[in-house]
Amino acid sequence: METKNPNCSFCGKDKSEALLLIAGTNGHICESCVEQANEIVLKELKSSVSESDEKFTLPENITPEHINAYLDEYIIGQEEAKKYLSVAVYNHYKRLKYNEKIDDVEIEKSNILFIGETGTGKTLLAKTIARFLDVPFAIVDATVFTEAGYVGEDVESMLSRLLQVCDYNTEAAESGIVYIDEIDKIARKSDNPSITRDVSGEGVQQALLKMLEGTEVHVPPQGGRKHPEQKLINVNTKNILFICGGAFDGIEKIISKRLNTHVIGFNSNLPEQLEETSSTLSNVIHQDIKRFGLIPELLGRLPVLTYLRPLTIDMMTKILVEPKNALIKQYVKLFDLEGIKLTFEDAAIEYIASKAMDFGLGARGLRSICEEVLTDAMFNLPSDNEVKEFKVTKAYAQGQLDKSKFGKLKVA
Ligand code: ADP
Repeated sequence: METKNPNCSFCGKDKSEALLLIAGTNGHICESCVEQANEIVLKELKSSVSESDEKFTLPENITPEHINAYLDEYIIGQEEAKKYLSVAVYNHYKRLKYNEKIDDVEIEKSNILFIGETGTGKTLLAKTIARFLDVPFAIVDATVFTEAGYVGEDVESMLSRLLQVCDYNTEAAESGIVYIDEIDKIARKSDNPSITRDVSGEGVQQALLKMLEGTEVHVPPQGGRKHPEQKLINVNTKNILFICGGAFDGIEKIISKRLNTHVIGFNSNLPEQLEETSSTLSNVIHQDIKRFGLIPELLGRLPVLTYLRPLTIDMMTKILVEPKNALIKQYVKLFDLEGIKLTFEDAAIEYIASKAMDFGLGARGLRSICEEVLTDAMFNLPSDNEVKEFKVTKAYAQGQLDKSKFGKLKVA
């Protein structure tokens, strides 16, 4: 029953002083006591989670070769990138294990920079390594960041993502992996440092410096801007591995210029051109990236530099069938669940791969092409009890694509 002059049963404030009084069975609570109680609950929960979790260390007996072998199960080709990644990750976690014991030589972090066209497996590599290690993993896009004080997100918000994926277990987040995509998009527009501030590019690069190197960051738990009333979580980035990736369009020209060689005109997908791009990319060094517009201080914090080759039709074909969770395996499983044996003619697989090459989306295009090819079958077959087998021939795949939106699409 409502009393005449209700007041907060916790702090005693009466109705006229409080903004809000919430009634319970035996009393009331005001808005500031609700907030305080909430803070206590969060604090308690957080400390109980972090106490129960040990700091991450690399499993015993793991070698870079083991890491590489695991990557091989999921990623086709890209041997150089896999090798560099395996070694960098191995050293990173070895450093975590021993840095506390060895104090005269401090091993520095080995953050990584991947260069390679879109859809060649940069994100997949980072994601796969995080799965192998079973550490928290977050993907962020460098283009959303702006310098503090401008419209956009502060760079700290990438740590909010990391905290969110591990339920705010700070200790787990502190040995996680962050993949920063499209790092090339925050390049400074020219090689000359500008006198005026470059809000979108250089300022963000500056903001990233400390974070990549290792520092104590005050992170807003929900991401976004820091609000004065939001309680911040302290995260130390010293042991977080940062992997950056970008397409760095036009980097071949910079490399060739340095090497004094000639790049043939851009008419994508010719086999000899892919070959040429691959071999030019294999010569990439930090100086080229600096030319492209990343500041030397940032590059200094990304000591491991490697590249991903443009995908060839042969790689595309393998991507369709070979990885552990290859697309074709997934469709076979889906049909199998309906009691239908799905098979593909080799020529059909090659055809799908060649179409994906035409559209220039890297391996990302494979999924949408497969969907176009199989949607009719996936629509009709579940209601047809007679069909127990379904074979996708090249002619069928071609017919399905020709009548779809892809049939009308101009090749890139
Ligand atoms: P990006 O280089 O743009 O980060 P992603 O790693 O996101 O490209 O690749 C997009 C998708 O293409 C992946 O989810 C994966 O299915 C496929 N893919 C790309 N490259 C490879 C590869 N080398 N091996 C296996 N799958 C790949």
